[in-house]
Amino acid sequence: MTRFFSNYTAHVIKIDLEKCVGCKKCYNTCHVDVIRWDEKSKRPFPKYPEECATCNWCEIVCPVKCIEVIPRNPWRMPEPYPKEEYPLSYVEK
Ligand code: SF4
Ligand code: SF4
Repeated sequence: MTRFFSNYTAHVIKIDLEKCVGCKKCYNTCHVDVIRWDEKSKRPFPKYPEECATCNWCEIVCPVKCIEVIPRNPWRMPEPYPKEEYPLSYVEK
């Protein structure tokens, strides 16, 4: 399942969590700590998409290419995404 993470005023970080192999490379490479790590699911999640520098390093280092960073475009905001579909850790923090 592909999940879209955004607070609707920020860049969108799209992660295919089924394709993800949990290598943690995106988490280790994100220099602004946007990509966080969910120890429970062993999968990444973005904490503050609005602070993403759109450097695309997480996309580049991902061995299975399951992350896509979509820069904010004020003219094409992402569709609202059901809150219950977010990973628990993202909602709680
Ligand atoms: S694009 Fe850069 S700043 Fe944004 S989440 Fe990926 S590694 Fe972090
Ligand atoms: S780099 Fe890709 S495969 Fe590795 S944890 Fe991040 S999203 Fe998953």
